[in-house]
Amino acid sequence: MTMIRCISPVNGEVYAERPAMPLELANQAVAQARLAQKSWAKRPLDERVKLVLAGVARLNEMVDEVVPELAWQMGRPVRYGGEFKGFNERSNYVASIAADALKPLVVEESDRFERRIEREPHGVVFVIAPWNYPYMTAINTVAPALMAGNTVVLKHASQTILVGERMVRAFVEAGVPADVFQNLFLDHETTAALIAARSFDFINFTGSVEGGRSIERAAAGTFTGLGLELGGKDPGYVMADADLDAAVDTLMDGATYNSGQCCCGIERIYVHESLYDAFVEKSVAWVSNYKLGNPLDAETTLGPMANKRFAATVRNQIADAVSKGAKALIDPKLFPQDDGGAYLAPQILVDVDHSMEFMREETFGPAVGIMKVKNDAQAIELMNDSQYGLTVSLWTKDAERAARIGAELETGTVFMNRADYLDPALCWTGVKETGRGGSLSVLGFHNLTRPKSYHLKKATA
Ligand code: NAP
Repeated sequence: MTMIRCISPVNGEVYAERPAMPLELANQAVAQARLAQKSWAKRPLDERVKLVLAGVARLNEMVDEVVPELAWQMGRPVRYGGEFKGFNERSNYVASIAADALKPLVVEESDRFERRIEREPHGVVFVIAPWNYPYMTAINTVAPALMAGNTVVLKHASQTILVGERMVRAFVEAGVPADVFQNLFLDHETTAALIAARSFDFINFTGSVEGGRSIERAAAGTFTGLGLELGGKDPGYVMADADLDAAVDTLMDGATYNSGQCCCGIERIYVHESLYDAFVEKSVAWVSNYKLGNPLDAETTLGPMANKRFAATVRNQIADAVSKGAKALIDPKLFPQDDGGAYLAPQILVDVDHSMEFMREETFGPAVGIMKVKNDAQAIELMNDSQYGLTVSLWTKDAERAARIGAELETGTVFMNRADYLDPALCWTGVKETGRGGSLSVLGFHNLTRPKSYHLKKATA
Protein backbone atom coordinates (compact mmCIF):
# COMPACT_ATOMS: atom_id res chain seq x y z
CA MET A 1 0.00 0.00 0.00
CA THR A 2 1.41 3.42 -0.95
CA MET A 3 1.60 5.81 1.98
CA ILE A 4 1.41 9.60 1.63
CA ARG A 5 3.71 11.14 4.20
CA CYS A 6 4.29 14.51 5.78
CA ILE A 7 7.91 14.82 6.90
CA SER A 8 7.88 17.58 9.49
CA PRO A 9 10.37 20.39 8.95
CA VAL A 10 10.53 20.81 12.71
CA ASN A 11 12.56 17.64 13.28
CA GLY A 12 12.78 15.85 9.91
CA GLU A 13 10.61 12.97 11.11
CA VAL A 14 7.35 11.57 9.77
CA TYR A 15 4.61 13.63 11.43
CA ALA A 16 1.60 12.10 9.70
CA GLU A 17 0.85 9.52 7.05
CA ARG A 18 -2.21 8.22 5.30
CA PRO A 19 -2.66 5.39 2.79
CA ALA A 20 -3.14 6.59 -0.77
CA MET A 21 -6.63 5.77 -1.98
CA PRO A 22 -6.79 3.12 -4.71
CA LEU A 23 -8.36 4.24 -7.99
CA GLU A 24 -11.40 2.03 -7.54
CA LEU A 25 -12.32 3.64 -4.21
CA ALA A 26 -11.58 7.10 -5.57
CA ASN A 27 -13.98 6.42 -8.45
CA GLN A 28 -16.66 5.45 -5.96
CA ALA A 29 -16.09 8.64 -3.98
CA VAL A 30 -16.42 10.74 -7.12
CA ALA A 31 -19.60 8.87 -8.08
CA GLN A 32 -21.06 9.69 -4.65
CA ALA A 33 -20.10 13.34 -5.13
CA ARG A 34 -21.90 13.34 -8.48
CA LEU A 35 -25.01 11.77 -7.00
CA ALA A 36 -25.07 14.20 -4.08
CA GLN A 37 -24.63 17.24 -6.32
CA LYS A 38 -28.16 17.28 -7.72
CA SER A 39 -29.86 17.53 -4.35
CA TRP A 40 -27.21 19.93 -2.98
CA ALA A 41 -27.82 22.30 -5.91
CA LYS A 42 -31.57 22.16 -5.31
CA ARG A 43 -31.21 23.50 -1.79
CA PRO A 44 -31.81 27.25 -1.54
CA LEU A 45 -28.66 29.34 -1.92
CA ASP A 46 -28.91 30.85 1.55
CA GLU A 47 -29.03 27.36 3.07
CA ARG A 48 -25.83 26.37 1.26
CA VAL A 49 -24.16 29.63 2.26
CA LYS A 50 -25.16 29.15 5.90
CA LEU A 51 -23.82 25.58 5.95
CA VAL A 52 -20.48 26.64 4.47
CA LEU A 53 -20.15 29.44 7.02
CA ALA A 54 -21.05 26.97 9.78
CA GLY A 55 -18.16 24.79 8.56
CA VAL A 56 -15.86 27.80 8.70
CA ALA A 57 -17.05 28.58 12.23
CA ARG A 58 -16.51 24.95 13.30
CA LEU A 59 -12.95 25.08 12.00
CA ASN A 60 -12.37 28.25 14.03
CA GLU A 61 -13.35 26.32 17.14
CA MET A 62 -10.46 23.95 16.42
CA VAL A 63 -7.87 26.75 16.58
CA ASP A 64 -5.90 25.19 19.45
CA GLU A 65 -5.29 22.05 17.42
CA VAL A 66 -4.95 23.71 14.01
CA VAL A 67 -2.14 26.10 14.90
CA PRO A 68 0.45 23.62 16.27
CA GLU A 69 -0.57 21.06 13.66
CA LEU A 70 0.26 23.61 10.96
CA ALA A 71 3.61 24.35 12.60
CA TRP A 72 4.47 20.64 12.61
CA GLN A 73 3.38 20.14 9.03
CA MET A 74 4.87 23.15 7.27
CA GLY A 75 6.86 25.14 9.83
CA ARG A 76 4.87 28.35 10.28
CA PRO A 77 5.48 29.72 13.78
CA VAL A 78 2.57 29.31 16.20
CA ARG A 79 2.81 32.99 17.15
CA TYR A 80 1.08 33.87 13.84
CA GLY A 81 -2.02 31.95 14.91
CA GLY A 82 -2.80 30.00 11.75
CA GLU A 83 -4.63 31.40 8.73
CA PHE A 84 -7.93 32.24 10.34
CA LYS A 85 -7.92 35.94 9.46
CA GLY A 86 -7.72 35.42 5.70
CA PHE A 87 -9.71 32.19 5.82
CA ASN A 88 -12.64 33.90 7.55
CA GLU A 89 -12.37 37.13 5.56
CA ARG A 90 -12.54 35.28 2.24
CA SER A 91 -15.37 33.00 3.32
CA ASN A 92 -17.45 35.85 4.68
CA TYR A 93 -16.85 38.01 1.65
CA VAL A 94 -17.84 35.37 -0.90
CA ALA A 95 -20.90 34.60 1.23
CA SER A 96 -21.86 38.29 1.11
CA ILE A 97 -21.73 38.48 -2.70
CA ALA A 98 -23.01 34.99 -3.58
CA ALA A 99 -26.62 36.01 -4.29
CA ASP A 100 -25.58 38.91 -6.48
CA ALA A 101 -22.84 37.01 -8.29
CA LEU A 102 -25.12 34.07 -9.08
CA LYS A 103 -28.27 35.96 -10.01
CA PRO A 104 -29.51 35.68 -13.60
CA LEU A 105 -28.57 38.34 -16.10
CA VAL A 106 -31.94 39.42 -17.44
CA VAL A 107 -31.78 40.78 -20.97
CA GLU A 108 -35.48 41.06 -21.67
CA GLU A 109 -38.69 40.46 -19.76
CA SER A 110 -41.53 41.65 -21.93
CA ASP A 111 -44.94 40.50 -23.18
CA ARG A 112 -43.20 38.71 -26.02
CA PHE A 113 -39.95 37.42 -24.61
CA GLU A 114 -38.05 36.26 -21.59
CA ARG A 115 -34.36 36.31 -22.34
CA ARG A 116 -31.83 35.74 -19.62
CA ILE A 117 -28.56 34.07 -18.75
CA GLU A 118 -28.59 31.92 -15.63
CA ARG A 119 -25.61 30.46 -13.82
CA GLU A 120 -25.54 26.74 -13.18
CA PRO A 121 -23.03 24.88 -11.05
CA HIS A 122 -20.49 22.86 -13.02
CA GLY A 123 -21.18 19.67 -11.04
CA VAL A 124 -18.22 18.07 -9.28
CA VAL A 125 -15.31 20.46 -8.67
CA PHE A 126 -11.86 19.04 -7.95
CA VAL A 127 -9.60 21.21 -5.78
CA ILE A 128 -5.87 20.44 -5.70
CA ALA A 129 -4.23 22.54 -3.01
CA PRO A 130 -0.65 23.47 -2.05
CA TRP A 131 0.97 23.42 1.38
CA ASN A 132 2.19 27.02 1.63
CA TYR A 133 -1.13 28.51 2.83
CA PRO A 134 -2.99 25.26 3.01
CA TYR A 135 -6.27 26.56 4.44
CA MET A 136 -6.48 29.85 2.59
CA THR A 137 -5.61 28.49 -0.86
CA ALA A 138 -8.17 25.70 -0.46
CA ILE A 139 -11.00 27.91 0.81
CA ASN A 140 -10.63 30.26 -2.21
CA THR A 141 -12.34 27.60 -4.30
CA VAL A 142 -14.03 25.34 -1.76
CA ALA A 143 -16.31 28.04 -0.30
CA PRO A 144 -17.63 29.60 -3.52
CA ALA A 145 -17.82 26.23 -5.29
CA LEU A 146 -20.05 24.77 -2.56
CA MET A 147 -22.12 27.94 -2.27
CA ALA A 148 -22.72 27.87 -6.03
CA GLY A 149 -24.17 24.34 -5.79
CA ASN A 150 -21.18 22.20 -6.78
CA THR A 151 -19.92 19.30 -4.76
CA VAL A 152 -16.20 19.39 -4.01
CA VAL A 153 -13.49 16.75 -3.94
CA LEU A 154 -10.32 18.03 -2.29
CA LYS A 155 -6.83 16.63 -2.73
CA HIS A 156 -4.37 18.33 -0.43
CA ALA A 157 -0.57 18.49 -0.60
CA SER A 158 1.39 15.65 1.04
CA GLN A 159 3.24 18.23 3.15
CA THR A 160 -0.07 19.34 4.71
CA ILE A 161 -1.82 16.01 4.55
CA LEU A 162 -3.96 16.68 7.64
CA VAL A 163 -5.44 19.95 6.39
CA GLY A 164 -7.97 18.51 3.94
CA GLU A 165 -9.03 15.91 6.47
CA ARG A 166 -9.55 18.57 9.12
CA MET A 167 -11.44 20.96 6.84
CA VAL A 168 -13.83 18.23 5.79
CA ARG A 169 -14.30 17.11 9.38
CA ALA A 170 -15.22 20.68 10.40
CA PHE A 171 -17.66 21.11 7.51
CA VAL A 172 -19.34 17.75 8.02
CA GLU A 173 -19.65 18.31 11.78
CA ALA A 174 -21.31 21.63 10.93
CA GLY A 175 -23.92 19.91 8.76
CA VAL A 176 -22.50 19.82 5.22
CA PRO A 177 -23.41 16.35 3.87
CA ALA A 178 -20.42 14.02 3.74
CA ASP A 179 -20.70 13.36 -0.01
CA VAL A 180 -20.93 17.07 -0.77
CA PHE A 181 -17.41 17.87 0.47
CA GLN A 182 -14.87 15.04 0.52
CA ASN A 183 -11.16 14.88 1.12
CA LEU A 184 -9.28 12.15 -0.73
CA PHE A 185 -5.68 11.06 -0.14
CA LEU A 186 -4.47 10.69 -3.70
CA ASP A 187 -1.08 10.04 -5.26
CA HIS A 188 -0.19 11.70 -8.54
CA GLU A 189 -0.98 8.67 -10.67
CA THR A 190 -4.51 8.25 -9.32
CA THR A 191 -5.08 12.01 -9.53
CA ALA A 192 -4.10 11.99 -13.21
CA ALA A 193 -6.19 8.86 -13.92
CA LEU A 194 -9.30 10.45 -12.39
CA ILE A 195 -8.81 13.63 -14.39
CA ALA A 196 -8.17 11.75 -17.64
CA ALA A 197 -11.35 9.72 -17.09
CA ARG A 198 -13.36 12.96 -17.09
CA SER A 199 -14.39 12.50 -13.48
CA PHE A 200 -14.65 16.22 -12.79
CA ASP A 201 -16.52 19.13 -14.32
CA PHE A 202 -14.03 21.75 -13.19
CA ILE A 203 -10.56 21.56 -11.66
CA ASN A 204 -8.81 24.22 -9.66
CA PHE A 205 -5.11 23.57 -9.25
CA THR A 206 -2.96 25.83 -7.09
CA GLY A 207 0.72 24.98 -7.07
CA SER A 208 3.90 24.92 -9.09
CA VAL A 209 4.24 25.50 -12.81
CA GLU A 210 5.41 21.90 -13.29
CA GLY A 211 2.43 20.59 -11.32
CA GLY A 212 0.11 22.76 -13.43
CA ARG A 213 1.60 21.33 -16.61
CA SER A 214 0.98 17.77 -15.36
CA ILE A 215 -2.65 18.58 -14.60
CA GLU A 216 -3.12 20.20 -18.00
CA ARG A 217 -1.60 17.13 -19.66
CA ALA A 218 -3.85 14.79 -17.67
CA ALA A 219 -6.91 16.82 -18.67
CA ALA A 220 -5.96 17.06 -22.36
CA GLY A 221 -8.85 16.13 -24.60
CA THR A 222 -11.39 15.91 -21.78
CA PHE A 223 -12.49 19.56 -22.18
CA THR A 224 -12.59 19.85 -18.40
CA GLY A 225 -12.41 23.49 -17.33
CA LEU A 226 -9.16 24.31 -15.51
CA GLY A 227 -8.16 27.08 -13.15
CA LEU A 228 -4.38 27.10 -12.82
CA GLU A 229 -2.90 29.32 -10.12
CA LEU A 230 0.82 28.80 -10.35
CA GLY A 231 4.17 30.20 -9.32
CA GLY A 232 5.44 33.76 -9.34
CA LYS A 233 8.50 35.98 -9.13
CA ASP A 234 6.78 39.10 -7.93
CA PRO A 235 8.62 42.42 -8.09
CA GLY A 236 8.48 45.56 -6.01
CA TYR A 237 9.39 48.98 -7.40
CA VAL A 238 10.30 51.79 -5.02
CA MET A 239 10.10 55.22 -6.66
CA ALA A 240 11.91 58.32 -5.52
CA ASP A 241 8.80 59.76 -3.81
CA ALA A 242 8.02 56.61 -1.83
CA ASP A 243 7.53 56.47 1.91
CA LEU A 244 10.81 54.71 2.56
CA ASP A 245 10.07 53.18 5.96
CA ALA A 246 6.69 51.88 4.88
CA ALA A 247 8.24 50.43 1.72
CA VAL A 248 10.98 48.65 3.66
CA ASP A 249 8.51 47.32 6.20
CA THR A 250 5.97 45.96 3.72
CA LEU A 251 8.41 44.71 1.10
CA MET A 252 10.67 42.92 3.59
CA ASP A 253 7.64 41.37 5.25
CA GLY A 254 6.37 40.40 1.79
CA ALA A 255 9.72 38.82 0.97
CA THR A 256 10.21 36.84 4.16
CA TYR A 257 6.89 36.19 5.93
CA ASN A 258 6.04 32.48 6.02
CA SER A 259 9.75 31.93 5.27
CA GLY A 260 9.16 33.52 1.87
CA GLN A 261 6.77 30.75 0.87
CA CYS A 262 4.01 32.96 -0.52
CA CYS A 263 2.82 32.74 -4.11
CA CYS A 264 2.73 36.55 -4.18
CA GLY A 265 5.82 36.97 -2.00
CA ILE A 266 8.23 39.72 -3.05
CA GLU A 267 11.21 38.07 -4.77
CA ARG A 268 12.96 41.00 -6.47
CA ILE A 269 13.00 44.70 -5.71
CA TYR A 270 13.95 47.62 -7.94
CA VAL A 271 14.75 50.86 -6.13
CA HIS A 272 15.27 54.32 -7.56
CA GLU A 273 18.95 55.25 -7.30
CA SER A 274 18.18 58.20 -5.00
CA LEU A 275 16.77 55.86 -2.31
CA TYR A 276 18.79 52.75 -3.03
CA ASP A 277 21.48 52.96 -0.32
CA ALA A 278 19.01 53.90 2.42
CA PHE A 279 16.56 51.22 1.32
CA VAL A 280 19.23 48.51 1.40
CA GLU A 281 20.57 49.61 4.77
CA LYS A 282 17.11 49.68 6.40
CA SER A 283 16.16 46.37 4.80
CA VAL A 284 19.23 44.64 6.22
CA ALA A 285 18.39 46.00 9.68
CA TRP A 286 14.75 44.88 9.31
CA VAL A 287 15.59 41.33 8.27
CA SER A 288 18.33 40.97 10.90
CA ASN A 289 15.66 41.22 13.61
CA TYR A 290 14.18 37.84 12.79
CA LYS A 291 14.45 35.04 15.29
CA LEU A 292 14.87 31.81 13.37
CA GLY A 293 13.92 28.69 15.29
CA ASN A 294 11.47 26.01 16.26
CA PRO A 295 8.00 27.17 15.10
CA LEU A 296 6.40 25.75 18.25
CA ASP A 297 8.38 28.21 20.33
CA ALA A 298 6.38 31.41 20.95
CA GLU A 299 9.53 33.55 20.52
CA THR A 300 10.22 32.30 16.99
CA THR A 301 9.37 34.76 14.24
CA LEU A 302 10.90 32.82 11.32
CA GLY A 303 10.28 29.09 11.12
CA PRO A 304 12.02 26.46 9.03
CA MET A 305 11.07 26.11 5.39
CA ALA A 306 8.41 23.46 4.88
CA ASN A 307 10.89 20.90 3.62
CA LYS A 308 14.67 20.75 3.45
CA ARG A 309 14.27 20.11 -0.30
CA PHE A 310 12.78 23.61 -0.69
CA ALA A 311 15.55 25.15 1.42
CA ALA A 312 18.13 23.40 -0.77
CA THR A 313 16.69 25.18 -3.84
CA VAL A 314 17.07 28.54 -2.12
CA ARG A 315 20.62 27.76 -0.97
CA ASN A 316 21.58 26.69 -4.50
CA GLN A 317 20.12 29.82 -6.07
CA ILE A 318 21.95 32.03 -3.57
CA ALA A 319 25.26 30.18 -4.07
CA ASP A 320 24.89 30.41 -7.85
CA ALA A 321 24.18 34.16 -7.71
CA VAL A 322 27.13 34.77 -5.36
CA SER A 323 29.41 32.78 -7.68
CA LYS A 324 28.34 35.16 -10.46
CA GLY A 325 29.10 38.33 -8.50
CA ALA A 326 26.13 38.90 -6.17
CA LYS A 327 26.83 40.09 -2.64
CA ALA A 328 25.02 38.53 0.34
CA LEU A 329 24.35 41.17 3.01
CA ILE A 330 22.96 39.13 5.90
CA ASP A 331 25.68 37.69 8.07
CA PRO A 332 24.89 33.97 8.66
CA LYS A 333 26.44 34.28 12.15
CA LEU A 334 23.32 36.24 13.15
CA PHE A 335 21.34 33.04 12.58
CA PRO A 336 23.19 30.18 14.29
CA GLN A 337 20.01 28.09 14.05
CA ASP A 338 20.58 27.73 10.27
CA ASP A 339 21.31 24.00 10.13
CA GLY A 340 22.05 23.64 6.42
CA GLY A 341 18.69 21.85 6.14
CA ALA A 342 15.14 23.18 6.52
CA TYR A 343 16.17 25.92 8.99
CA LEU A 344 17.41 28.64 6.66
CA ALA A 345 18.64 32.15 7.51
CA PRO A 346 16.98 34.99 5.58
CA GLN A 347 19.11 36.67 2.94
CA ILE A 348 19.32 39.89 0.92
CA LEU A 349 21.41 39.94 -2.24
CA VAL A 350 22.68 43.02 -4.05
CA ASP A 351 24.82 43.31 -7.19
CA VAL A 352 22.35 40.94 -8.80
CA ASP A 353 21.14 40.95 -12.40
CA HIS A 354 18.72 39.08 -14.60
CA SER A 355 21.35 36.64 -15.88
CA MET A 356 21.11 34.96 -12.47
CA GLU A 357 18.60 32.21 -11.77
CA PHE A 358 17.99 33.90 -8.41
CA MET A 359 16.39 36.85 -10.23
CA ARG A 360 14.48 34.74 -12.77
CA GLU A 361 13.25 31.50 -11.22
CA GLU A 362 10.83 31.30 -8.31
CA THR A 363 12.92 31.18 -5.11
CA PHE A 364 10.03 30.60 -2.68
CA GLY A 365 12.23 31.23 0.34
CA PRO A 366 13.21 34.09 2.70
CA ALA A 367 15.64 35.64 0.23
CA VAL A 368 15.31 38.68 -2.01
CA GLY A 369 17.43 40.50 -4.58
CA ILE A 370 17.62 44.31 -4.76
CA MET A 371 18.63 46.26 -7.87
CA LYS A 372 19.13 49.98 -8.48
CA VAL A 373 17.13 51.62 -11.32
CA LYS A 374 17.30 55.05 -12.97
CA ASN A 375 13.71 55.57 -14.06
CA ASP A 376 10.24 54.10 -14.66
CA ALA A 377 11.11 52.81 -18.11
CA GLN A 378 13.99 50.73 -16.80
CA ALA A 379 11.91 49.46 -13.87
CA ILE A 380 9.03 48.47 -16.18
CA GLU A 381 11.39 46.62 -18.48
CA LEU A 382 12.92 44.70 -15.58
CA MET A 383 9.59 43.92 -13.91
CA ASN A 384 8.24 42.51 -17.19
CA ASP A 385 11.41 40.53 -17.85
CA SER A 386 10.00 37.36 -16.29
CA GLN A 387 8.06 34.30 -17.36
CA TYR A 388 5.74 34.87 -14.40
CA GLY A 389 3.11 37.50 -13.61
CA LEU A 390 1.08 37.35 -10.41
CA THR A 391 1.44 40.71 -8.60
CA VAL A 392 3.63 43.82 -8.57
CA SER A 393 4.05 46.23 -5.70
CA LEU A 394 4.58 49.89 -6.64
CA TRP A 395 5.73 52.42 -4.05
CA THR A 396 4.91 56.07 -4.75
CA LYS A 397 2.66 58.85 -3.48
CA ASP A 398 1.34 59.41 -7.01
CA ALA A 399 -1.66 57.15 -7.77
CA GLU A 400 -1.87 58.35 -11.39
CA ARG A 401 1.74 57.41 -11.97
CA ALA A 402 1.13 53.99 -10.41
CA ALA A 403 -1.88 53.44 -12.68
CA ARG A 404 0.15 54.53 -15.72
CA ILE A 405 2.96 52.14 -14.85
CA GLY A 406 0.44 49.42 -13.96
CA ALA A 407 -1.00 49.62 -17.47
CA GLU A 408 2.43 48.66 -18.85
CA LEU A 409 2.92 45.69 -16.55
CA GLU A 410 2.33 42.04 -17.43
CA THR A 411 0.74 40.95 -14.18
CA GLY A 412 -2.45 39.77 -12.50
CA THR A 413 -2.61 42.43 -9.76
CA VAL A 414 -1.07 45.90 -9.41
CA PHE A 415 -0.59 47.00 -5.82
CA MET A 416 0.32 50.53 -4.76
CA ASN A 417 1.86 50.94 -1.31
CA ARG A 418 0.99 47.42 -0.27
CA ALA A 419 2.00 43.87 -1.15
CA ASP A 420 1.42 40.21 -0.53
CA TYR A 421 -2.30 40.47 0.19
CA LEU A 422 -5.25 38.81 -1.44
CA ASP A 423 -8.35 41.02 -1.60
CA PRO A 424 -11.38 38.72 -1.87
CA ALA A 425 -13.35 41.42 -3.70
CA LEU A 426 -10.82 41.39 -6.54
CA CYS A 427 -10.07 38.61 -8.99
CA TRP A 428 -7.00 36.56 -8.05
CA THR A 429 -5.34 35.80 -11.33
CA GLY A 430 -2.03 35.64 -13.16
CA VAL A 431 -0.50 35.88 -16.61
CA LYS A 432 2.20 33.97 -18.48
CA GLU A 433 3.43 30.89 -16.58
CA THR A 434 1.57 31.98 -13.46
CA GLY A 435 -1.33 30.30 -15.18
CA ARG A 436 -4.87 31.25 -15.91
CA GLY A 437 -6.74 31.27 -12.69
CA GLY A 438 -9.50 33.62 -11.69
CA SER A 439 -10.69 33.02 -8.18
CA LEU A 440 -12.65 34.99 -5.58
CA SER A 441 -14.69 38.10 -6.46
CA VAL A 442 -17.76 37.93 -8.70
CA LEU A 443 -15.56 36.47 -11.44
CA GLY A 444 -14.56 33.58 -9.18
CA PHE A 445 -18.24 32.62 -8.91
CA HIS A 446 -18.57 32.88 -12.68
CA ASN A 447 -15.64 30.52 -13.15
CA LEU A 448 -17.23 27.97 -10.83
CA THR A 449 -20.52 28.00 -12.74
CA ARG A 450 -21.51 27.81 -16.37
CA PRO A 451 -23.82 30.16 -18.20
CA LYS A 452 -27.14 28.81 -19.44
CA SER A 453 -29.25 30.93 -21.75
CA TYR A 454 -33.03 31.02 -21.76
CA HIS A 455 -34.72 32.43 -24.84
CA LEU A 456 -38.47 32.07 -24.27
CA LYS A 457 -40.85 33.38 -26.91
CA LYS A 458 -44.29 33.79 -25.48
CA ALA A 459 -47.31 32.47 -27.39
CA THR A 460 -49.12 35.26 -29.18
CA ALA A 461 -52.90 35.49 -28.82
P1 NAP B 1 3.10 21.56 -6.13
O1 NAP B 1 4.23 20.68 -5.80
O2 NAP B 1 2.84 21.81 -7.58
O3 NAP B 1 1.82 20.87 -5.44
C1 NAP B 1 0.55 21.50 -5.41
C2 NAP B 1 -0.51 20.43 -5.28
O4 NAP B 1 -0.56 19.68 -6.48
C3 NAP B 1 -0.24 19.39 -4.18
O5 NAP B 1 -1.48 18.93 -3.69
C4 NAP B 1 0.48 18.29 -4.93
O6 NAP B 1 0.38 17.05 -4.32
C5 NAP B 1 -0.27 18.31 -6.24
N1 NAP B 1 0.51 17.87 -7.39
C6 NAP B 1 1.70 18.34 -7.80
N2 NAP B 1 2.10 17.71 -8.93
C7 NAP B 1 1.11 16.84 -9.22
C8 NAP B 1 0.93 15.87 -10.25
N3 NAP B 1 1.85 15.68 -11.21
N4 NAP B 1 -0.18 15.12 -10.24
C9 NAP B 1 -1.11 15.28 -9.29
N5 NAP B 1 -1.01 16.17 -8.28
C10 NAP B 1 0.09 16.94 -8.24
O7 NAP B 1 3.19 22.95 -5.42
P2 NAP B 1 3.53 23.22 -3.88
O8 NAP B 1 4.99 23.02 -3.69
O9 NAP B 1 2.57 22.47 -3.03
O10 NAP B 1 3.17 24.76 -3.73
C11 NAP B 1 4.06 25.80 -3.99
C12 NAP B 1 3.80 26.39 -5.35
O11 NAP B 1 2.46 26.82 -5.43
C13 NAP B 1 4.65 27.60 -5.63
O12 NAP B 1 5.09 27.55 -6.95
C14 NAP B 1 3.66 28.76 -5.44
O13 NAP B 1 4.01 29.92 -6.13
C15 NAP B 1 2.41 28.15 -5.95
N6 NAP B 1 1.24 28.86 -5.43
C16 NAP B 1 0.54 29.66 -6.26
C17 NAP B 1 -0.57 30.37 -5.79
C18 NAP B 1 -1.34 31.30 -6.68
O14 NAP B 1 -2.36 31.78 -6.24
N7 NAP B 1 -0.90 31.58 -7.89
C19 NAP B 1 -0.94 30.23 -4.45
C20 NAP B 1 -0.19 29.40 -3.61
C21 NAP B 1 0.90 28.70 -4.13
P3 NAP B 1 1.64 16.43 -3.52
O15 NAP B 1 1.95 17.35 -2.44
O16 NAP B 1 1.11 15.13 -3.05
O17 NAP B 1 2.76 16.32 -4.52
